[in-house]
Amino acid sequence: MTFVDVHCLLASMAIEQWGSEYQKKHYLIPAAKGERILAYGLTEPEAGSEPTSLKTSYEERDGGYVVTGTKYLISNGSIADSLIIFAYPNGRREGMSAFIVDSKSEGFSVAMHLDEKIGLFTSDTAMLELNEVKVPKENLLGQPGKGLHVAYSALLNGRIGIGSGCVGIIEDCLNSVTERARSRVQHGKLIGKHQLIQRHVANIAMNLEMARWPTYLAAVEKTKLDTNPSNLDLRTKVDLQSAIAKRVASRLAYESADLAVQVFGGFGYSLLSPVAKHLCDARVARIYEGTDEIMELKIASLILGKGFEAYS
Ligand SMILES: Cc1cc2nc3c(=O)[nH]c(=O)nc-3n(C[C@H](O)[C@H](O)[C@H](O)COP(=O)(O)OP(=O)(O)OC[C@H]3O[C@@H](n4cnc5c(N)ncnc54)[C@H](O)[C@@H]3O)c2cc1C
Repeated sequence: MTFVDVHCLLASMAIEQWGSEYQKKHYLIPAAKGERILAYGLTEPEAGSEPTSLKTSYEERDGGYVVTGTKYLISNGSIADSLIIFAYPNGRREGMSAFIVDSKSEGFSVAMHLDEKIGLFTSDTAMLELNEVKVPKENLLGQPGKGLHVAYSALLNGRIGIGSGCVGIIEDCLNSVTERARSRVQHGKLIGKHQLIQRHVANIAMNLEMARWPTYLAAVEKTKLDTNPSNLDLRTKVDLQSAIAKRVASRLAYESADLAVQVFGGFGYSLLSPVAKHLCDARVARIYEGTDEIMELKIASLILGKGFEAYS
């Protein structure tokens, strides 16, 4: 879920939306072929839910840019060939820009592999150092000073991707518990014939439908926005719908995985079962690309309207 979300929905689609012809040819086509792995570097040690507080900076030099800073918790970070990196002009806290940075550039290094995660065992997560990394002029993504637009528009796609991944988790939990309930015998009958187990199966099935609807709706609205990108009402609707999809689907995925572990009993607590990894993996969906809390604040302020933002 994470690899595909970051490589395709965050990074590739940002290049598709904001990239020049050169960038599409040089980065998007190899990415689509699987020949170039992409990552998205917004978060920093002191800038998570508040990306506008990031410290990575750039300056114009010798006809190009020089970028310096630290990026934290970056998926695909140590395996990426190229990354979308967000930075402010040196000494300023406004006018953020986005750059496509090649990981083989001088001054780029992997500072740490974050291997001690409680899930996502197959997903690469890294802390990255950029020490005066030279970025050619043609690798500025989007307009100078409009990096936040690039970052936020990418997250619209990413959140729908997370919602979809969570729908997949719930679906697999449902399939796994169905099989288990039909085969495991306790107290002389299949556990699926115990009514309390049936309640768990029913709850997971209901969660699946509750997660599917807002996720599909967000994807449908986003498709409309893609053909009409200047429609601001539609953009607001997609912003709202993708936040709802992510918030709802990620909570329901975590809850469903927990129920699935319960149905599997002691075996469910083992990573050898088909459901334990879902419990570990689903948890992060409530954190990355906007935490539960940030999604709730976004949903409320988009509904209440201008002046009701909980933070600026
Ligand atoms: C496995 C993993 C992979 C990731 N991959 C990427 C990636 O590829 N690229 C990338 O850029 N980032 C990535 N991230 C970072 C992720 O997006 C951030 O962790 C997330 O945005 C939260 O930021 P934070 O961790 O700094 O938490 P904080 O922002 O410090 O939040 C801590 C708590 O405070 C709450 N909080 C913060 N502000 C408010 C507020 N105004 N009101 C109410 N509550 C608030 C939060 O909801 C949270 O509960 C990844 C994270 C993880 C764990």
